[in-house]
Amino acid sequence: MQQKMPLLTIVVPCYNEEEVLGDTIAQLSGVLDNLIEDHLIAPTSKLLFVDDGSKDQTWRLIARACSHNKYVTGVKLAKNVGHQLALLAGLERAQTISDCTISIDADLQDDISVIRDFALKYQEGYDIVYGVRQNRETDTLFKRSTAQGYYRIMNKLGIPLVYNHADYRLMSKRALLELCRYRETNLFLRGIIPLIGLKTTEVYYDRKERLAGETKYPLKKMLSFAINGLTSFSIAPIRFVTYLGLVIFFISGLAGSYALLQKLMGATDAGWTSLMISIWTIGGLQLMGIGLIGEYISRIFLEVKGRPKYAIDIDLYTDKDPLKYFRTNRGEVMKVKKVQWKR
Ligand code: UDP
Ligand code: MG
Repeated sequence: MQQKMPLLTIVVPCYNEEEVLGDTIAQLSGVLDNLIEDHLIAPTSKLLFVDDGSKDQTWRLIARACSHNKYVTGVKLAKNVGHQLALLAGLERAQTISDCTISIDADLQDDISVIRDFALKYQEGYDIVYGVRQNRETDTLFKRSTAQGYYRIMNKLGIPLVYNHADYRLMSKRALLELCRYRETNLFLRGIIPLIGLKTTEVYYDRKERLAGETKYPLKKMLSFAINGLTSFSIAPIRFVTYLGLVIFFISGLAGSYALLQKLMGATDAGWTSLMISIWTIGGLQLMGIGLIGEYISRIFLEVKGRPKYAIDIDLYTDKDPLKYFRTNRGEVMKVKKVQWKR
């Protein structure tokens, strides 16, 4: 019996990726060609590029590709919102039309040959398929060890991250609909998706070098991503500070009694060193504690406001012919004019 072929959309967030985009489009189109030929996916499958407020020619390249490549379509975000939200924007858009989506980085560091395995697993009935890196030799030693340490810590804290899995995964429409119900602003997809449940599996691959260009995740962004992931999922750090405070309070009680005893016995000496040390240690710990609490309060602050996570400037991804129509940020579908490509 001929099974209905699923419409697959590959979602690619792009931030200043002009150097790799041409190659990426060509390679991914090739993958779709093959999968369609083998009747694994529908011929109307798409490549959805999300321009995350790039400052270079990224959008122009996407728009141009859109007009001559039947697979390519694009969404231009109003400003840079970061990889996670850009990806979410793409997934939320794709969910409306696709049976399943695959998310992948624009630099194609993740092996595209396993897209076929993703599709096969989907056919077998899996809702979420995680791409898991087998080796990370192409990453710097620093990135590799910090990332792996991070996965370990997160798992110890009870956050169910899939070890060595980034954002390369297939999700069925069902899984995406569930994902869309998570309304948090502090988005850490890697942590949320395992919470969905459903039928999941893993596919293994080797991570490669970036095709071209530089990483868009400098240390500062990586650190904030890591802290974000931790604090949006676990209250363990804040609890640790509370316990630390309790222990220190107990010790200070002992030390206080000791000091008082010494005074009563008339043996008060300068004690400058110990005083200085304790003032500094306690001061440091207090600041750390306050900072940590602030971290959580700022999360609450952001969640409570419930601001929209991203704004779409131009949307070429409609169910109408993407070569002729696009959707404005007010949701109207309009005819494409030549001038639009210039934006
Ligand atoms: N990216 C994005 N917005 C940003 C930063 C990055 O959409 O603010 C995209 C980027 O274009 C790429 C993906 O996120 O497709 C991952 O970035 P990168 O490859 O630089 O990260 P790394 O692989 O070094 O962790
Ligand atoms: Mg990369």
